[in-house]
Amino acid sequence: MKKAFYILLFFLSAAAAFAQRVRLDPPLHRDIAPSGTFAEIRGNHYHGGLDLRIGGDTGIGTPVYAPADGYVSRLRISAYDGGKMLYINHGDNITTVYLHLDSYQGAIADYVLDFQRRNQCYSLDTTLSEGELPVHRGDIIAHAGNSGMSGGPHLHYEIRETRTQHTLNPLRFGLSIVDTMPPTLRGIKLYPVDKNSRVNGSKSTYQVDLEEGAVAGTERKPISIIGRFYIGVYADDMSKGSTFHNGYDRIDIWVDGKPFFQYCVTKIPNGDTRAINAQIDYSHYCSTQEGYVMTRRFPGDPIRPARTYGDGSIGFIPSDTTLHRITISVTDFNGNSTVRRLYVRNSLETLVPMHDIPEHPSYHLFSDSLLYCWPLTIHRGDYQIDMPVGMGYYDDLLLHGIQQDRRYISPIVTVRPWKSPYPPTHTWVIRMPIPIGYEPEQLVICRISGDYASALPTRIVQRNVEGKPGRWLEADARWYGNFVVKCDTSAPYVTPSNFKAGGKAPNVLLLKMGDNLSGVREYRCFVNDQWVLSEFDGKSATLSIDLSQVADLGKTFRVNIFLADACGNRREVVYNLKR
Ligand SMILES: [Zn+2]
Repeated sequence: MKKAFYILLFFLSAAAAFAQRVRLDPPLHRDIAPSGTFAEIRGNHYHGGLDLRIGGDTGIGTPVYAPADGYVSRLRISAYDGGKMLYINHGDNITTVYLHLDSYQGAIADYVLDFQRRNQCYSLDTTLSEGELPVHRGDIIAHAGNSGMSGGPHLHYEIRETRTQHTLNPLRFGLSIVDTMPPTLRGIKLYPVDKNSRVNGSKSTYQVDLEEGAVAGTERKPISIIGRFYIGVYADDMSKGSTFHNGYDRIDIWVDGKPFFQYCVTKIPNGDTRAINAQIDYSHYCSTQEGYVMTRRFPGDPIRPARTYGDGSIGFIPSDTTLHRITISVTDFNGNSTVRRLYVRNSLETLVPMHDIPEHPSYHLFSDSLLYCWPLTIHRGDYQIDMPVGMGYYDDLLLHGIQQDRRYISPIVTVRPWKSPYPPTHTWVIRMPIPIGYEPEQLVICRISGDYASALPTRIVQRNVEGKPGRWLEADARWYGNFVVKCDTSAPYVTPSNFKAGGKAPNVLLLKMGDNLSGVREYRCFVNDQWVLSEFDGKSATLSIDLSQVADLGKTFRVNIFLADACGNRREVVYNLKR
């Protein structure tokens, strides 16, 4: 019965994966060679798309073709993130998304430039309705590049469900890659579950020897087990002639020939990508960047890309001393598999069971229950915390409190979970009082670590405390940690990097731009009092002004740049230049 259920489940999920109606052509007219695959494990997120190689710097400008009919549904330009981005709605609940573009093509490029001129701003984010910018299958829509926070020139290509913006695997939409090499299994670990568990006599994580002629884990020399354990699998996939270690499609684990665990990410829910951390050996990943996918399941895991029994641990009744076979298989998107067998056996040794001694946090901090299925609100006179539902993967305590520190104009507010090592799954709200004697508009809430302070986007809000109305600083936090209020009184800076004031101007002016704390909120550049488009690249902190856009520059001309940071500190710089 159970077997029939799983077979049915398999066909249902297979049917769901292949039941698309839109036929999508490849977005590039060259060999599809990924340098990054869908659902690859990255820091605090799944990679949501397919990274397509364009051949390094010489490939910048490679045409991108519309994979099907549709219309431009959103245009976004950011100095960070995906740089120049493009969304095309193809109907049938399918949208394709393109990141790190060098430029847009034709009517799309005209639309963008017109939008930038009207708003006197390079970055934008605008949605369009059907009929404004239609595209047809095979049209050139853009050119691939290296804009935004890309690690080199490539096209990041995504397929999304239009209604939810969940991302899907492009390799399940008819895009095919040449890959005949099976994935490489790089590591297997066995994790004792609790105090009463041992793997090969030890309470610590056991790294399986994967070398040829391994001494333990074989049929002749099985790994000895007491209690229960989880399995962790680390693997990657390479295709022939490529040096990129890409992701794989799925992991399957059988125990004594029966399916025990399957991990396969077919969809990444919008907003829950941080739940990647609940799937892996997170602390090991933080120190090594090796993503061991674990069989362990948390009750508050919002994405559940794995199927298994119970909490994902394996164990045998104590009297069972037979040999057990664990089969681990990693499969790539083309169906090539690498299989490894492990043998385990219950130890004859028995442990005196140890009971859990109830623990309590021993910090000088307050603690409140942080339950994964409830929101948490802490409204005190000295700080306030609002956390949405689903902040952790299991029930924990939230530790919080304040500490005076003369280096700052406010006390330090500490907020962190007691046991969970994971960063917050969602953003949460922190509120801090306005220190007396400071201009509220110039204040920012900062997260500090060591001497480094990173400013959070801060706003001023009205909140009642014990019936008394008051003004507070409020910010959205993406991390736990220590928070203080800082005052930003210095304006952003801009310095020429390829010209000198009063000197001869190159065709494209390059300048370094930045701010000490709250960040550059806006900048505008004018040549002879006329607004000109300037592009800011976040990864190099470089502002570029292409002078070819000015029709009659004259022998000498004047460049004015106006800058403001998020706290309203302003600066204007003037350069008189020669042609
Ligand atoms: Zn990418």
